[in-house]
Amino acid sequence: MDNYILFLFCIVGLCFGSFFNVVILRSLSGESIVFPGSKCPKCNHKLYPWHNIPVLSYILLRGKCYFCKEKISIQYPIVELVTMFAFAASYLKFGLSIDSIFGIILLSGLIIMTTTDLKEKLVDCNIAILLAVCGLVFSYLRVESITDSFLGLILGAVIIEAVARLGYFIKPKIRVMGEADTYVAGALGAFFGVNGICIVLVYSLIASVLFALPAFLFNQYKNNNKSTCILFVLFALSAVIFKAAYQNWITFAAVGISGLLLSVSILKNIKNETKRTYLPFVPALAAATIFYIFFQ
Ligand SMILES: [Zn+2]
Repeated sequence: MDNYILFLFCIVGLCFGSFFNVVILRSLSGESIVFPGSKCPKCNHKLYPWHNIPVLSYILLRGKCYFCKEKISIQYPIVELVTMFAFAASYLKFGLSIDSIFGIILLSGLIIMTTTDLKEKLVDCNIAILLAVCGLVFSYLRVESITDSFLGLILGAVIIEAVARLGYFIKPKIRVMGEADTYVAGALGAFFGVNGICIVLVYSLIASVLFALPAFLFNQYKNNNKSTCILFVLFALSAVIFKAAYQNWITFAAVGISGLLLSVSILKNIKNETKRTYLPFVPALAAATIFYIFFQ
């Protein structure tokens, strides 16, 4: 019986994933979600129903439009599969309960916003606001403190907004993070409360460092900021040595000094940079949420 329900969750997840692809496409193009029927984004030809089977159609059509033979974005099957996993994981973790329904709602919103953030650096704030309301309703239904949920909402939003405005120290009106990140952090706060949002934000910081590191180093290398690269390697080395072997004042000083010089070097580069590299933060928040819900 359990396996049947799990299978059902997977199928429903795939179908919702297919629908989310439409939401993603149309929230980027500003079209209505319900109307018109599904069509190829390249040649605008209306699709037959069998072109809309999640994942399967992509494989059968070998990733190409049936009419114009243009490549179909790999985003479609990926979003469908990820949504399927989100549905299945929520069921496996929470069974048939309010928790699994709200888990699915939260993960679904994050899947849509992560995809648009990665794809076009655009996030529909209305989805985050909707999630925040769901978070408040969720803690109300679970007879948890709605005050905690509300304070979590405020705290999440305020912390990220404050971080976003750190950029003002470098140049006026430069945000280090998008406005949507504030809304998303608020929504997560509404779900997880004050303690939860603090943990999730720490996780998201770690996730964003992990995501950003390769791109950051490549960018520094490409822009000939060799000193930053060298300082980074020195900092990482001294930190590893400090942590693993010699926790004495020499290695401690090495970590401190190289870290300080690295920060100064990074700040100097940001000041000189005309084209800022954009770092999507919603994926980091989503990764942190998944880790918080399923792995701790
Ligand atoms: Zn086409």
